[in-house]
Amino acid sequence: MTGGLSGKKVVVIGTGIGGSGVSALLAREGAQVLVLEKNSFPGGKAASFERQGFVYDTGVHWLSRGDKGPLGEIATLVGAEISYRSLEPGMQLTTGGRTAVLYQNMEDDDVLERLFEEIGVLPENREGARALFKDLARERSPRELEELDEMSFAEYCERFVNDEQLNRLLDAFTGMYMCISRRAASAGEFILCFSRQAREKNLCYPIGGMRAVPCGYLKALEEMGGEVRYSTPVERIVVEGGKVRGVEAGGFIPADIVISNTGIKETVALAGRHNFPDDYLGWVDNLRLSFGAVSVKYALDAEVVKPHLFCYFPDFHRPELVERQAAIFVPVPTAADPSLAPPGCQLVLAGSLAPQGLEDREQAAALCEEILDRIENTMRDLFPDIEKHIVWKIRTDTRYIAEISGRSTGEVIGLAQNRHQVGKNRPSHTTPVEGLYLVGADAGGRGVGTEMAADSALNLWRLLLHG
Ligand SMILES: Cc1cc2nc3c(=O)[nH]c(=O)nc-3n(C[C@H](O)[C@H](O)[C@H](O)COP(=O)(O)OP(=O)(O)OC[C@H]3O[C@@H](n4cnc5c(N)ncnc54)[C@H](O)[C@@H]3O)c2cc1C
Repeated sequence: MTGGLSGKKVVVIGTGIGGSGVSALLAREGAQVLVLEKNSFPGGKAASFERQGFVYDTGVHWLSRGDKGPLGEIATLVGAEISYRSLEPGMQLTTGGRTAVLYQNMEDDDVLERLFEEIGVLPENREGARALFKDLARERSPRELEELDEMSFAEYCERFVNDEQLNRLLDAFTGMYMCISRRAASAGEFILCFSRQAREKNLCYPIGGMRAVPCGYLKALEEMGGEVRYSTPVERIVVEGGKVRGVEAGGFIPADIVISNTGIKETVALAGRHNFPDDYLGWVDNLRLSFGAVSVKYALDAEVVKPHLFCYFPDFHRPELVERQAAIFVPVPTAADPSLAPPGCQLVLAGSLAPQGLEDREQAAALCEEILDRIENTMRDLFPDIEKHIVWKIRTDTRYIAEISGRSTGEVIGLAQNRHQVGKNRPSHTTPVEGLYLVGADAGGRGVGTEMAADSALNLWRLLLHG
């Protein structure tokens, strides 16, 4: 037990990866941790649900490093048993009418040559493409990374090569990692995500569904004496004289430390804007979010979809396809864990990016419906048999993501990892309110989606432990 945190009353708002991770880490240090979750289930965007023998996720998840990254580091520290399965080849990508198989060993020259051939990188651009991938994968000092943080990823790539097909491949990677465009994405953040994944070669899925991760952390928390209350929305973070006093959640709950996993904008609203200086408010209001997503979740009575993970862009040479299809990211969780469906059945999640904003709700809903129709068209075009095998299917839009994560917007990741919002420019864990901290995808972490939220939990734990 650590003196500084031992016996401290900590309230954590939310059981996303960030909230569940940090709550278990602090319980490990002897803090009295109470986690309040507005939903009746754990996990936020990393939740999973059961329906007719199928276990499906809120999101459309596949993980960049699994047990070899921050998700695994938390599990080891708190004694949570979570296992992952990594499959080879990593994934398949179709773009510009060409299909490439992506192996996990992206550092191997032969693998790269085959990839460039398959995807159709022009021969005169191969040398530049090779140099780009070598530079992406190499280890960098924090200082080198910091210099690249404020550069756009598109600008960085153009230093090496400008090839139409290669750009489409890089667009697919930026979309998968950060859910923003290559022009908006930070070069430093992309390089960090790519190089770590290339080194670990552990693209994977958690056994038991995505919920296995937050549930594993929360189980460890409870074993160490912490408590989780579900269906308990925090209505207000109570601040007096610039210090946090506790929260209102159907009654006042006092706390020495309040950690919010609800997102930076929502945290400010919960604590009351009058408790923050104007310059902080102005900065928070202007922070940008990643894209949102819509998805079709298919429960199938046969194994219809191959491969286990693919990314597909409609062939831009064929206008009739561009008009009816969508760019889709498709994990098949049952390929990693067959127990997520009845024997012989298959669970398939097909997602596509969508605007996250919900200012004009009717317009946003109509747009989401259109993208969802396009996802279904694409899946029918690629797998003509799919309709015959549907046990059930669920269409989810950005309102669903907003509802499940307790935000007013339906973004995939959280704050966008653009060149103004990563590294030293990412919101820190601390806030102008003493004792009020932020955790999750919005604050103090780096990496891909869930792993950035886990990195945030580890960094906040270190901060509270060592100051
Ligand atoms: C469709 C989709 C696909 C994705 N694909 C991937 C992927 O393939 N790989 C990957 O790594 N990541 C992926 N992500 C991103 C990843 O899931 C998120 O970035 C990450 O899970 C966010 O975690 P978080 O800790 O920030 O909290 P969140 O998941 O946002 O959780 C916040 C929690 O706080 C709770 N809460 C909010 N307000 C209150 C309140 N007032 N009182 C009490 N509780 C409250 C919410 O109910 C929720 O449980 C995807 C996300 C989506 C939506």
